[in-house]
Amino acid sequence: MNLAVIGFGNAGGKVVDKLLAFESNTGRSLCRFALAVNSAEIDLAKLDYVPRDNRILIGQTDQRVKGRGAGADPEVGATIARQDHHEIERAMDGVPIHDIDGFLVVAGLGGGTGSGGAPVLAETLSDRYAEPVYGLGVLPSADEGGRPAFNAARSLTSFTEATENLVLFDNDTWRQHGDSVETGYDRTNEEIARRVVTLLAAGELDGSQISEAAMDSSDVKRTLATGGVSSIAFSSSGLESGTREEKGLISRFTNGHDESRDESDLTMKVHGLVRKAVKSRLTIPAEIDSAERSLVVVSGPPSEFSQKGMRRAREWLERETDSVEILAGDDPREGADRLSVAVLLSNVTRVDRIDALQDQAVDAKSNIQQQADTREDEINDLITDDSGELDPI
Ligand code: GDP
Repeated sequence: MNLAVIGFGNAGGKVVDKLLAFESNTGRSLCRFALAVNSAEIDLAKLDYVPRDNRILIGQTDQRVKGRGAGADPEVGATIARQDHHEIERAMDGVPIHDIDGFLVVAGLGGGTGSGGAPVLAETLSDRYAEPVYGLGVLPSADEGGRPAFNAARSLTSFTEATENLVLFDNDTWRQHGDSVETGYDRTNEEIARRVVTLLAAGELDGSQISEAAMDSSDVKRTLATGGVSSIAFSSSGLESGTREEKGLISRFTNGHDESRDESDLTMKVHGLVRKAVKSRLTIPAEIDSAERSLVVVSGPPSEFSQKGMRRAREWLERETDSVEILAGDDPREGADRLSVAVLLSNVTRVDRIDALQDQAVDAKSNIQQQADTREDEINDLITDDSGELDPI
C-alpha cells in the first residue's frame, strides 16, 4: 500500500527516517509522502531522509516551548498541535491524496510532543480526509520511570480512539543489556522499519514478476480496519546457496517457479517461517488467540514461494489464533537476498504489557499528586517563620 507518513516528536521523526532508509535500501515503495513535526529544532535537524521542506517546527510562539521541545509534557504537545494546526495542514497539502491508501502517524508515547500531538493530528486527519488514519506508537520501557508510563497510558487511549488501527512497539520488550540509549534506539528503530515496511509495502509492485497469490493493498486495508491495537510478528531466512542471479534466470524460464527446488523444502520453509515469526518476539507481546484478524505476507524472490506452504501456514494460524479471518499473500521481490515473513495480528485484546503500563501509570499519578501537594507545604514552611510572627509585605 501507499501511505502518507507523519512522524510526530523525536521518536516519531526518527522512526519515519528509518522507514525511508529501509525503503530506499530494499527498493520498496511505501511512503509516498513523509513529514516530521516537532517542537525541538535540534531533533528535526538530525534527520537524514525526511526532506528538509517537510520538517515542521511547531510551538515557536509558545513561551514554554520556543523551539526547545515540550518538556515531556503531553498537555503542551497537544496544545501546540492544536495552535499550529494550520501550519501542519499547509504542509499536508503536498500529500498526493489520490495516490495514497491512508495516513500513518508515528510517535513515541512516553514524551510530550508526540504523546500529546500525535492523537490530535490523527483526529484532524480523520475529520479532514476520507482515507483511513493508522497509528504507530512506541511504548516506553518500564525502567524509564513513572512519568513516561503515565504519559503513554493516557496517550494510548486517545491515540487508539483517533486511529483506525494503532500498531504498537514496546521498548521494554526490545531493550537489550549493554546498549547505550542511542545505539539501542537505532537498532530498535531498524527492527520497527523492517516489520512495518515488509508488511505494509506488500501490494506495491516494483517490476518483479507477479506471483500467483500476490498480496493486494485492499487485503492489508481490510485487516487493519478492525480498530483497536495490533502487533506485528516477523522472521526471515537467508536464501540457500546458488546465486540469486542463477535463481532469477531459472525463474524467468519457468514462469516464476524453480523446478529444480524440491517443493516439499519450500513448503516447509514457508510454513516454518510463519510459525517461527508468530512464536518469536512480537512488536508488543500479545495473546495471539485474542486477535480479530490476521494477515500474512511472504516477501522475497518468487522462486522461494510455496502456495502449499502458505496454505499450511494459514491453517496452522487459524488454529493458533482461533479465527478464520486470515488473509495471506506474496510480495514478490526478485532482487531480495532473504525470504521474509511478516504477520499482522490485528485488534489484539489481551496484552499484559498494557495492563502493566497502566498499573505503573496509576502509581505514578498518585506519586505525582502527592509530590505536588507536599511541595506546596514545603515551600510554605520555607518562606514563613516557625512562629508565624512575620507578616508578608
Ligand atoms: P517527544 O519528542 O516529546 O515526543 O519525546 P521523545 O520522542 O523524545 O520520547 C518519547 C518516548 O519515545 C521516550 O520515552 C522513549 O520511550 C521513546 N523513544 C525516544 N526516542 C526513541 C527512538 O529513537 N526509538 C524508540 N524505539 N523509542 C524512542
